[in-house]
Amino acid sequence: MAIPTSPKEQNLNAAAVVPAAGRGERLGPGAPKALRELGGVPLLVHAVRALARSRAVTLVVVVAPADGVTRVRGLLDDYGVDGHDGARIAVVPGGSTRQESVRLGLGVIPGDVDVVLVHDAARPLVPVDVVDAVVRAVADGAEAVVPAVPLADTVKQVEPGAAPGRPEPVVATPDRSTLRAVQTPQGFRREVLLRVHEKALNDGVEATDDAGLVERYGGSVVVVPGHEEAFKVTRPLDLVLAEAVLARRRSRDEF
Ligand code: C5P
Repeated sequence: MAIPTSPKEQNLNAAAVVPAAGRGERLGPGAPKALRELGGVPLLVHAVRALARSRAVTLVVVVAPADGVTRVRGLLDDYGVDGHDGARIAVVPGGSTRQESVRLGLGVIPGDVDVVLVHDAARPLVPVDVVDAVVRAVADGAEAVVPAVPLADTVKQVEPGAAPGRPEPVVATPDRSTLRAVQTPQGFRREVLLRVHEKALNDGVEATDDAGLVERYGGSVVVVPGHEEAFKVTRPLDLVLAEAVLARRRSRDEF
Protein backbone atom coordinates (compact mmCIF):
# COMPACT_ATOMS: atom_id res chain seq x y z
CA MET A 1 0.00 0.00 0.00
CA ALA A 2 1.47 3.38 -0.97
CA ILE A 3 0.22 6.55 0.68
CA PRO A 4 -0.59 9.20 -1.96
CA THR A 5 1.10 12.60 -1.74
CA SER A 6 0.25 15.99 -3.17
CA PRO A 7 2.84 18.36 -4.66
CA LYS A 8 4.00 21.13 -2.33
CA GLU A 9 6.95 22.67 -4.09
CA GLN A 10 7.28 22.34 -7.84
CA ASN A 11 9.72 19.69 -9.07
CA LEU A 12 10.51 18.50 -5.57
CA ASN A 13 8.58 15.81 -3.78
CA ALA A 14 10.08 14.57 -0.53
CA ALA A 15 8.80 12.12 2.06
CA ALA A 16 10.22 11.41 5.50
CA VAL A 17 10.42 8.20 7.53
CA VAL A 18 10.55 8.62 11.32
CA PRO A 19 11.56 5.38 13.06
CA ALA A 20 9.95 5.59 16.48
CA ALA A 21 9.46 1.95 17.33
CA GLY A 22 12.25 1.66 19.93
CA ARG A 23 12.00 2.03 23.69
CA GLY A 24 14.80 4.54 24.36
CA GLU A 25 15.81 2.98 27.64
CA ARG A 26 18.82 5.30 28.19
CA LEU A 27 16.38 8.09 29.06
CA GLY A 28 15.29 6.16 32.13
CA PRO A 29 12.03 4.38 32.94
CA GLY A 30 8.68 5.63 31.65
CA ALA A 31 6.94 6.06 28.31
CA PRO A 32 8.72 5.11 25.06
CA LYS A 33 11.18 7.90 24.24
CA ALA A 34 9.25 9.26 21.25
CA LEU A 35 6.23 9.85 23.49
CA ARG A 36 8.13 11.69 26.24
CA GLU A 37 7.04 15.27 26.51
CA LEU A 38 8.98 18.41 25.75
CA GLY A 39 7.16 21.65 26.59
CA GLY A 40 4.02 19.54 27.10
CA VAL A 41 4.20 18.06 23.57
CA PRO A 42 5.58 14.57 22.72
CA LEU A 43 9.04 14.47 21.12
CA LEU A 44 7.52 12.65 18.15
CA VAL A 45 5.02 15.45 17.51
CA HIS A 46 7.81 18.04 17.57
CA ALA A 47 9.87 15.94 15.14
CA VAL A 48 6.98 15.36 12.71
CA ARG A 49 6.07 19.07 12.74
CA ALA A 50 9.69 20.02 12.06
CA LEU A 51 9.69 17.82 8.94
CA ALA A 52 6.22 18.86 7.75
CA ARG A 53 7.28 22.51 7.85
CA SER A 54 9.81 21.89 5.07
CA ARG A 55 8.73 23.27 1.71
CA ALA A 56 9.33 19.91 0.04
CA VAL A 57 7.97 17.33 2.47
CA THR A 58 4.55 16.05 1.40
CA LEU A 59 4.40 12.87 3.49
CA VAL A 60 5.75 11.82 6.88
CA VAL A 61 5.68 8.11 7.67
CA VAL A 62 5.89 7.44 11.40
CA VAL A 63 7.02 3.93 12.26
CA ALA A 64 5.38 3.01 15.56
CA PRO A 65 5.88 0.01 17.85
CA ALA A 66 3.91 -2.89 16.32
CA ASP A 67 1.51 -2.84 19.28
CA GLY A 68 1.32 0.95 19.42
CA VAL A 69 0.02 2.02 16.00
CA THR A 70 -3.45 3.02 17.24
CA ARG A 71 -2.00 4.92 20.19
CA VAL A 72 0.50 6.83 18.04
CA ARG A 73 -2.11 7.56 15.36
CA GLY A 74 -4.45 8.88 18.06
CA LEU A 75 -1.73 11.05 19.52
CA LEU A 76 -0.85 12.63 16.18
CA ASP A 77 -4.56 13.24 15.57
CA ASP A 78 -4.92 14.85 19.02
CA TYR A 79 -2.25 17.37 18.04
CA GLY A 80 -3.81 17.94 14.59
CA VAL A 81 -0.55 17.11 12.81
CA ASP A 82 -2.00 15.36 9.73
CA GLY A 83 -2.49 17.79 6.84
CA HIS A 84 -0.95 20.65 8.81
CA ASP A 85 1.75 22.47 6.82
CA GLY A 86 0.57 20.58 3.73
CA ALA A 87 1.99 17.17 4.67
CA ARG A 88 0.11 13.90 5.06
CA ILE A 89 1.00 11.70 8.03
CA ALA A 90 0.96 7.90 7.88
CA VAL A 91 1.59 5.54 10.79
CA VAL A 92 2.86 2.01 10.13
CA PRO A 93 3.97 -0.81 12.46
CA GLY A 94 7.71 -1.18 13.01
CA GLY A 95 10.03 -4.17 13.23
CA SER A 96 12.48 -5.63 15.69
CA THR A 97 15.42 -3.43 14.64
CA ARG A 98 15.72 0.19 13.56
CA GLN A 99 16.75 -0.95 10.09
CA GLU A 100 13.68 -3.13 9.74
CA SER A 101 11.49 -0.27 10.96
CA VAL A 102 12.95 2.08 8.32
CA ARG A 103 12.44 -0.55 5.62
CA LEU A 104 8.80 -0.98 6.64
CA GLY A 105 8.33 2.80 6.48
CA LEU A 106 9.96 2.97 3.06
CA GLY A 107 7.51 0.34 1.85
CA VAL A 108 4.55 2.78 1.88
CA ILE A 109 6.29 5.66 0.11
CA PRO A 110 4.85 6.14 -3.38
CA GLY A 111 6.93 5.99 -6.56
CA ASP A 112 6.51 9.69 -7.41
CA VAL A 113 8.60 10.68 -4.38
CA ASP A 114 12.15 11.65 -5.41
CA VAL A 115 13.78 12.34 -2.04
CA VAL A 116 13.42 10.30 1.14
CA LEU A 117 14.51 11.62 4.51
CA VAL A 118 15.10 9.45 7.56
CA HIS A 119 14.78 11.37 10.80
CA ASP A 120 15.14 10.38 14.47
CA ALA A 121 12.05 11.08 16.56
CA ALA A 122 14.62 11.86 19.24
CA ARG A 123 15.74 15.03 17.40
CA PRO A 124 12.64 17.15 18.04
CA LEU A 125 14.19 20.59 17.54
CA VAL A 126 15.86 20.24 14.15
CA PRO A 127 15.49 23.62 12.41
CA VAL A 128 13.54 23.56 9.15
CA ASP A 129 16.53 25.14 7.38
CA VAL A 130 18.50 21.94 8.02
CA VAL A 131 15.66 19.82 6.60
CA ASP A 132 15.48 22.05 3.51
CA ALA A 133 19.26 22.02 3.05
CA VAL A 134 19.33 18.20 3.08
CA VAL A 135 16.49 17.96 0.55
CA ARG A 136 18.17 20.58 -1.64
CA ALA A 137 21.51 18.74 -1.64
CA VAL A 138 19.79 15.51 -2.78
CA ALA A 139 17.79 17.41 -5.40
CA ASP A 140 21.06 18.92 -6.62
CA GLY A 141 22.45 15.47 -7.34
CA ALA A 142 23.82 13.81 -4.18
CA GLU A 143 22.88 10.16 -3.61
CA ALA A 144 22.94 10.50 0.15
CA VAL A 145 23.27 13.53 2.41
CA VAL A 146 24.00 13.78 6.10
CA PRO A 147 23.81 16.96 8.20
CA ALA A 148 26.70 17.16 10.63
CA VAL A 149 28.56 19.46 12.99
CA PRO A 150 32.25 19.72 13.94
CA LEU A 151 33.25 18.06 17.20
CA ALA A 152 33.81 20.09 20.34
CA ASP A 153 35.74 17.28 22.04
CA THR A 154 38.88 15.54 20.91
CA VAL A 155 38.13 11.86 20.22
CA LYS A 156 40.32 8.95 21.32
CA GLN A 157 40.15 5.53 19.75
CA VAL A 158 40.58 2.91 22.46
CA GLU A 159 41.16 -0.80 22.56
CA PRO A 160 37.77 -2.34 23.22
CA GLY A 161 37.17 -5.09 25.72
CA ALA A 162 38.25 -3.55 29.04
CA ALA A 163 35.85 -4.21 31.93
CA PRO A 164 33.47 -1.30 32.57
CA GLY A 165 35.14 1.46 34.60
CA ARG A 166 38.68 0.07 34.03
CA PRO A 167 41.38 2.14 32.26
CA GLU A 168 41.30 1.57 28.49
CA PRO A 169 44.48 1.72 26.34
CA VAL A 170 44.41 4.49 23.72
CA VAL A 171 45.13 3.30 20.19
CA ALA A 172 44.89 6.53 18.22
CA THR A 173 43.83 10.18 18.26
CA PRO A 174 42.12 10.98 14.94
CA ASP A 175 42.64 14.51 13.61
CA ARG A 176 39.57 16.30 14.94
CA SER A 177 39.36 18.65 11.98
CA THR A 178 38.49 15.67 9.75
CA LEU A 179 35.68 14.40 12.01
CA ARG A 180 31.98 15.33 12.08
CA ALA A 181 29.16 14.35 14.41
CA VAL A 182 26.23 13.36 12.23
CA GLN A 183 22.61 14.27 12.80
CA THR A 184 19.35 13.70 11.00
CA PRO A 185 17.39 14.01 8.78
CA GLN A 186 19.61 12.05 6.46
CA GLY A 187 18.44 12.40 2.85
CA PHE A 188 18.54 9.99 -0.08
CA ARG A 189 17.41 9.52 -3.61
CA ARG A 190 14.48 7.16 -3.03
CA GLU A 191 15.78 4.40 -5.30
CA VAL A 192 19.23 4.49 -3.66
CA LEU A 193 17.80 3.97 -0.17
CA LEU A 194 15.47 1.22 -1.38
CA ARG A 195 18.35 -0.57 -3.11
CA VAL A 196 20.71 -0.55 -0.13
CA HIS A 197 17.97 -1.68 2.27
CA GLU A 198 17.12 -4.55 -0.06
CA LYS A 199 20.80 -5.57 -0.31
CA ALA A 200 21.28 -5.35 3.46
CA LEU A 201 18.24 -7.56 4.00
CA ASN A 202 19.59 -10.16 1.56
CA ASP A 203 23.09 -10.02 3.06
CA GLY A 204 21.96 -10.06 6.71
CA VAL A 205 23.73 -6.72 7.29
CA GLU A 206 22.62 -4.43 10.14
CA ALA A 207 23.78 -0.81 10.26
CA THR A 208 22.94 1.88 12.80
CA ASP A 209 22.43 4.52 10.16
CA ASP A 210 21.17 4.56 6.62
CA ALA A 211 24.00 6.61 5.14
CA GLY A 212 26.31 3.91 6.51
CA LEU A 213 24.51 1.39 4.31
CA VAL A 214 25.01 3.57 1.24
CA GLU A 215 28.76 3.80 2.04
CA ARG A 216 28.98 0.07 2.60
CA TYR A 217 27.60 -0.63 -0.86
CA GLY A 218 29.91 1.84 -2.60
CA GLY A 219 27.59 4.82 -2.88
CA SER A 220 28.70 8.36 -2.18
CA VAL A 221 27.59 10.30 0.87
CA VAL A 222 28.11 14.00 1.43
CA VAL A 223 27.86 16.10 4.58
CA VAL A 224 26.05 19.45 4.80
CA PRO A 225 26.06 21.77 7.81
CA GLY A 226 23.82 20.58 10.63
CA HIS A 227 22.76 22.68 13.61
CA GLU A 228 23.48 22.57 17.33
CA GLU A 229 19.73 22.48 18.04
CA ALA A 230 19.33 19.26 16.05
CA PHE A 231 20.89 17.31 18.93
CA LYS A 232 19.54 13.92 19.93
CA VAL A 233 17.61 13.55 23.17
CA THR A 234 19.22 10.46 24.62
CA ARG A 235 19.89 11.00 28.32
CA PRO A 236 17.92 12.88 31.00
CA LEU A 237 20.21 15.95 30.75
CA ASP A 238 19.35 16.26 27.03
CA LEU A 239 15.71 16.81 27.99
CA VAL A 240 16.74 19.69 30.26
CA LEU A 241 18.67 21.29 27.39
CA ALA A 242 15.78 20.71 24.96
CA GLU A 243 13.34 22.41 27.35
CA ALA A 244 15.68 25.41 27.53
CA VAL A 245 15.99 25.65 23.73
CA LEU A 246 12.21 25.44 23.38
CA ALA A 247 11.66 28.12 26.03
CA ARG A 248 14.12 30.40 24.24
CA ARG A 249 12.33 29.89 20.92
CA ARG A 250 8.96 30.58 22.51
CA SER A 251 10.23 33.74 24.19
CA ARG A 252 11.48 34.93 20.80
CA ASP A 253 8.16 34.00 19.20
CA GLU A 254 9.88 31.60 16.85
CA PHE A 255 6.90 29.21 17.12
O1 C5P B 1 17.65 2.59 20.19
P1 C5P B 1 18.27 3.51 19.19
O2 C5P B 1 18.71 4.84 19.75
O3 C5P B 1 19.29 2.91 18.30
O4 C5P B 1 17.05 3.87 18.21
C1 C5P B 1 17.21 4.79 17.17
C2 C5P B 1 15.84 5.08 16.55
O5 C5P B 1 15.33 3.91 15.93
C3 C5P B 1 14.80 5.50 17.59
O6 C5P B 1 14.04 6.59 17.06
C4 C5P B 1 13.96 4.26 17.78
O7 C5P B 1 12.61 4.54 18.13
C5 C5P B 1 14.03 3.63 16.40
N1 C5P B 1 13.82 2.19 16.44
C6 C5P B 1 12.80 1.63 15.66
N2 C5P B 1 12.57 0.27 15.68
C7 C5P B 1 13.31 -0.53 16.46
C8 C5P B 1 14.36 0.01 17.26
C9 C5P B 1 14.60 1.37 17.22
O8 C5P B 1 12.08 2.37 14.97
N3 C5P B 1 13.01 -1.82 16.47
